[in-house]
Amino acid sequence: MDKLISRRDLEFLLYEVLEVEALTQRERYRDHSRETFKDILEVAHKIAVEHFATHNKKNDQQEPYFDGEKVHTNPEVKAALEAYRQAGLFAATHDYELGGIQLPYVISTAYGAFFKAANIATASFALLTAGNANVLRKYGSPSQQKKYLLPQLEGRFFGTMCLSEPHAGSSLTDILTRAEPQPDGTYRLNGSKMWISGGDHEISENIVHLVLAKIPGGPPGVKGISLFIVPKFLVGEDGRLGPRNGVKLAGLNHKMGYRGIPNCLLSLEDAVGELVGEPHQGLSYMFTMMNEARIGVGMGAMALAYTGYLHALEYARGRTQGRRLSDKNPASPAVPILQHPDVRRMLLMQKAYAEGSLHLCLYAARLVDEERTAPTPEAAQQAHLLLELLTPVVKGWSSELGLKANELAIQVHGGYGYTRDYNVEQFYRDNRLNAIHEGTNGIQALDLLARKVGMQGGAAYKLWVREIERTIAQSRGPGSELKEYADRLEQALNTTTEVTQLLLSKAAEGAVERAFANSFAYLELFGTVTLAWLWLQQAQKSMGREGAFYRGKLEAARYFYHYELDKVPLLAARLRRLDDVFLCPEQDWLAEC
Ligand SMILES: Cc1cc2nc3c(=O)[nH]c(=O)nc-3n(C[C@H](O)[C@H](O)[C@H](O)COP(=O)(O)OP(=O)(O)OC[C@H]3O[C@@H](n4cnc5c(N)ncnc54)[C@H](O)[C@@H]3O)c2cc1C
Repeated sequence: MDKLISRRDLEFLLYEVLEVEALTQRERYRDHSRETFKDILEVAHKIAVEHFATHNKKNDQQEPYFDGEKVHTNPEVKAALEAYRQAGLFAATHDYELGGIQLPYVISTAYGAFFKAANIATASFALLTAGNANVLRKYGSPSQQKKYLLPQLEGRFFGTMCLSEPHAGSSLTDILTRAEPQPDGTYRLNGSKMWISGGDHEISENIVHLVLAKIPGGPPGVKGISLFIVPKFLVGEDGRLGPRNGVKLAGLNHKMGYRGIPNCLLSLEDAVGELVGEPHQGLSYMFTMMNEARIGVGMGAMALAYTGYLHALEYARGRTQGRRLSDKNPASPAVPILQHPDVRRMLLMQKAYAEGSLHLCLYAARLVDEERTAPTPEAAQQAHLLLELLTPVVKGWSSELGLKANELAIQVHGGYGYTRDYNVEQFYRDNRLNAIHEGTNGIQALDLLARKVGMQGGAAYKLWVREIERTIAQSRGPGSELKEYADRLEQALNTTTEVTQLLLSKAAEGAVERAFANSFAYLELFGTVTLAWLWLQQAQKSMGREGAFYRGKLEAARYFYHYELDKVPLLAARLRRLDDVFLCPEQDWLAEC
């Protein structure tokens, strides 16, 4: 067994829970069917198993290096991405005119899970290129699309995102990279970009850097940030590659995990850049693709959690140790550790986190399709709002739970899990990044509480409540065995609403620091209620169905309601208190030690 992601579970979520087949009724997806979805999932799974999983450990052990001239990656990375390219996966969700097959985003997100579980570092080249291409599809001029978008969709050029600088990560308002306009309409960029994944390599013909920079004389803060295309090799109007641009590798970062993709400090030295769209709109352009990029990060965290869980499960089935609690006879044979309640606890937690997060990420991806193809503008707007609200949860909560799941996978392996002979310690190290990049989880928590729940008079929050109430009502039908869960979810939802109103009203009264000081606890509360809602949906679809698969779903839901939802009153109490323990006092004792 490949132990990446359960195909059965993916199909359950896609077809039985999220009903994605209904998308094929929409004009954009009319050439698709469950059969075409199945085919592409199969192709992706095969490539992930045969070309990605096979060099995951090698990527970890032999990280990219710079020989003074070139950055070298393992040759298997290029071969795997070539297989991905030949299958047409770089362009799959794009229009026919751009060489795509107009695949729903939710299906591409689903198959993306195989690649991320198999080899998150190699998969990241494709993820970054997809994000870059989305920005250019939306905001690039026709000439820029011809020169930089099409080669990315063909998989000939790869893309990067150059936002961060050595001194400015969370706070992009402080970036220093400058872009000076030139008489020929181009710009010359100077500055440093830090942490750039895929920033230099020899895998693709060219690298298209999307760079945030400030044009001198522009407005202060984020309103003065513009977006530029800065290719590694200049590209002529006819598409031919010209000389090397002034974007230089200043050094490689040596990472804890995620090692197969080079992470670079780049120096821009009079680099030629083309402005994307209007000046000073750069951050808003980047943010329009952030939702999808953050679903990608949530999926990555989930995929590592999922594969870690499957590895731990297999280990627990085979490893014998000790006897049942009731068995006092030392002569009786040792049992597989799977039978010990504490090991089952750790496995069930991983299952609940991984399968719950997979549901959350796919739900968000389906909202992207809704936003794009809903039959009415109102429905599209509702999908947009829900997606905006849930994005920090998809990114922030999936990566918190994913890491916890990987920690438990190590624990299930005992001492062996702590060695490099097994895979789970690498999953943990790889997954540790997901709480940091694409906006740290501290920033995601603030985004959720200080921006998203109150935006447009709480419009998105109200939609979230409405959707949960719908699931609650469906779980209270006559004779429903899920009524107890529905009641508990309703209670948790009411608590969340009461706490949300309190925090927002305190902030409106001026107590901003106290209201938002515990935003991470709010992310925990909101994330827990969201997953409880999704687990209730999975339980609904599993009730009354035969077989171990559905029984497993009901047990995971039971775990979630018995052990996770219990945290809600505790978190709510902490939030209600407006606890100031984390607030920085005038005389900071913490800075004194
Ligand atoms: C392996 C890796 C790959 C990356 N890939 C890319 C890439 O391809 N392109 C790119 O542009 N960037 C990339 N990044 C950068 C990444 O997005 C940043 O590291 C991240 O945004 C955090 O910025 P920072 O490292 O400067 O940390 P800081 O911003 O200094 O944050 C340090 C700590 O302070 C907290 N903090 C900071 N400000 C606040 C605040 N206002 N309120 C509350 N807490 C706060 C943070 O949550 C964090 O815990 C990558 C990073 C890594 C490690």
